[in-house]
Amino acid sequence: MNAENIRVRFAPSPTGYLHVGGLRTALYNSLFARGHGGTTVLRIEDTDRSRYVEGAAENLIETLAWAGITFDEGPEQGGDFGPYVQSERTALYREHAERLLAEGKAYRCFCTSEELAASRERQVAEKKDPTYDRRCRMLSEEEVAAKMKAGMPHTVRMKVPLVGQMQFRDLVRGDISVHYDVIDDQVLLKSDGYPTYHLANVVDDHHMEITHVIRGEEWLPSTAKHRLLYEMFGWDPPQFAHLPLLLNPDRSKLSKRQGDVAVEDYRTKGYLPEALVNFVALLGWNPGGDRELFTLEELQEEFSLERVGKAGAVFDIEKLQWFNTQYLRALPPEKLAEICEPWMREAGFDTIDRERTQAVATALSSYLTLPSDITTHIELFTQDAVTLDEESREITAAPESQQVFQRFIEVAETQEPWKGEEIKTMVKTIQKDTGVKGKKLFMPLRLAMTGQQHGPDLGMIAELLGRETVIERIRRRIL
Ligand code: GLU
Repeated sequence: MNAENIRVRFAPSPTGYLHVGGLRTALYNSLFARGHGGTTVLRIEDTDRSRYVEGAAENLIETLAWAGITFDEGPEQGGDFGPYVQSERTALYREHAERLLAEGKAYRCFCTSEELAASRERQVAEKKDPTYDRRCRMLSEEEVAAKMKAGMPHTVRMKVPLVGQMQFRDLVRGDISVHYDVIDDQVLLKSDGYPTYHLANVVDDHHMEITHVIRGEEWLPSTAKHRLLYEMFGWDPPQFAHLPLLLNPDRSKLSKRQGDVAVEDYRTKGYLPEALVNFVALLGWNPGGDRELFTLEELQEEFSLERVGKAGAVFDIEKLQWFNTQYLRALPPEKLAEICEPWMREAGFDTIDRERTQAVATALSSYLTLPSDITTHIELFTQDAVTLDEESREITAAPESQQVFQRFIEVAETQEPWKGEEIKTMVKTIQKDTGVKGKKLFMPLRLAMTGQQHGPDLGMIAELLGRETVIERIRRRIL
């Protein structure tokens, strides 16, 4: 395989939003090509006019860019194989349908949709798999000519061989064979003159010199038809790799009903592109070993189709949340603050002091699954006074806690500088002075300052709250 010649494509239909499964397909294509010095193509498959959604293509492109997935050729960047939007290539598909007709490899079908529906119903009633009964395949040349002359609308169907089988090797699923008798005489050109997905997809993959078709498993059943089209045209087929299904936790096919499936939904909620990409990369690809955190560049180095499995991959939202926490924590303070600021302001935190805003966001970062979570954790900085529940009040009322509070106020008044590390050292001197240590020392202080039993580093919290607030909150707990 000549690495330089590898060409892959992501070929979404603009029917709405980018599905997380689509993101994974785009990602794997990109990783595979980039890892082999190949070329990535974005092709918009918009020939199904009934499913077309205005603005969906732009939205797909924008969402992919947000995720960090870029293409070498496509509607925006152009390239030698354009146009990259199928509705602008319809003449090419018609030409190819004509060619198959002329060579006797396809035929015109004049059956109306009513006739087809009735036939389908009959077959279902007889408990048969509904297939086209091929009646127009039997029409004589004269009959076809007469119907054409009468201007009867028609489709073009491929003549699937009646016996034999199609065999091929899928890079993920291994050897596949499909008997022709289970393949329908697929419509290639619809009566509105638009091609079906099958014809347009094959014609374009050939003309765009695609070497590897990497796509979701739902397209596996179509692959025999596609291979047959390559044969009919006398073209070399690309290699195929079908990616495993994405599943809900109950192992049903990933669906909207059990959670969000649109990449935009995760984006709006505040998931970071790096977290989503890292998570999605592991849905079907096994890097080997225990490592889970990978940047896009690292994924490019590590990824291989050989390590893509056949088994469905469960979309575990908790795992995605874990990734998001990891990536939020790793952000530089300026970036973290920028992401969290709208939420901080909404929760009543004054973000004018940049340094303080960054420090507070950083202190709380390990408690965040999503940036919006900061609204609950930031309360300790925004509320005037801390309220304690029964159990916490008992802890702060204990004689040892009272001793700690007394001493704390004495030393805190003169503590210089009022900085995290120094404040912690100061607390250690309180341990020496009072003999109270460990949990009994830290817990009452934390409760008095924050109202919570757990939380970020105590020195840091004290510094960020400021000396005055800390002393005031502790004084309030002295009985
Ligand atoms: N347009 C198809 C889709 O929406 C492309 C399938 C393929 O990659 O062949 O997924």
